[in-house]
Amino acid sequence: MAVFNHVSFDEHEQVVFCHDKQSGLKAIIAVHNTNLGPAVGGCRMWNYQSDDEALTDVLRLSRGMTYKNALAGLTMGGGKAVIIADPKTTDREALFLAFGRFVNSLGGKYYSAEDVGVSTSDIMIASRETEFVAGLEGKSGDPSPLTALGTYLGIKAAVKHQRGIDSLQGIKISVQGVGHVGYYLCKHLHDAGAELIVTDIHQASLDRVATEFGATVVAPQDIYTQNVDVYAPCALGATLNDTTLPLLKATIVAGCANNQLAEVRHGEKLKQMGILYAPDYVINAGGIINVSFEKNYDAAAATAKVEQIYNTLLTIFERADSENRTTGSVADEMAKAIIDAAK
Ligand code: NAD
Repeated sequence: MAVFNHVSFDEHEQVVFCHDKQSGLKAIIAVHNTNLGPAVGGCRMWNYQSDDEALTDVLRLSRGMTYKNALAGLTMGGGKAVIIADPKTTDREALFLAFGRFVNSLGGKYYSAEDVGVSTSDIMIASRETEFVAGLEGKSGDPSPLTALGTYLGIKAAVKHQRGIDSLQGIKISVQGVGHVGYYLCKHLHDAGAELIVTDIHQASLDRVATEFGATVVAPQDIYTQNVDVYAPCALGATLNDTTLPLLKATIVAGCANNQLAEVRHGEKLKQMGILYAPDYVINAGGIINVSFEKNYDAAAATAKVEQIYNTLLTIFERADSENRTTGSVADEMAKAIIDAAK
């Protein structure tokens, strides 16, 4: 397993491999860049099939946080943590106390929060061992509703840019993954008059959006071929790849999942196909914006900042068109300029 030579290493400042014998914790904390402030990014718990898979995930996610925080206008750097374990594991107390101790050992260089497989109650456990956590109950809380708001506004910006309309009335949208964020996103889209086609691997989540929002349910493998205007990936990463791209009928890809492109070249391919792609770390910044208000939580101020995602995306879309570039490369360039200026 290469670390310094890993294809996604990208000048990480620090990568910490954590092992606690008593609890069985195996985790990796990656601090990508702290030019703008302490690294902040969630902790993911997943049944990784290998250490290599976990390392790749944490490096890609951590780098994404640096870019996300910069473009969202936050004074925070980028980092992320992964715990290698079954996310359904019930014995969480010892695991998250041990995780909290490792976060604490970094002395405030990295702040953790929830991500896939980890809930705010897990982070509450970690907070007994460290102050360097965010998204706590009674403070900024669950980031998912504001991630969903930002994603909804990002879809609106994409529709506005591509079709010149301000409304989602009658727009067909497929949503892959109706978990924490996907559920709230479906609510916004339904309220705005969109027609929903959804999939998930968790039946109860599907039943909920079908009942509450009249969503049509399809099997996971059928989500890519749906005759829709917008495809919103809201489950895991790398769902835009060589296999799925030829199947897409949507002309817009805009969803909350992190690392949607399997490789950078898939962003080029989307452009060639005439599909407008909302860069994932721009459209899904709502949750981290919410977390950035942790110390003196102000819901109205957090919401107002999340609403800026709409204009940021319009700027990226317009520049990408006028410079004949991918939206991803424009976003990266804008983020890098902010990060380098803060050096
Ligand atoms: P979640 O775990 O609550 O929801 C993910 C959903 O996807 C689950 O319901 C799961 O069953 C489903 N899923 C998993 N594999 C699937 C598959 N192959 N096909 C269909 N459905 C599948 O997670 P979440 O918090 O809603 O986050 C969703 C995505 O958004 C993740 O990529 C996460 O990193 C990203 N994200 C979340 C936040 C946040 O505030 N929660 C912020 C930024 C980015």
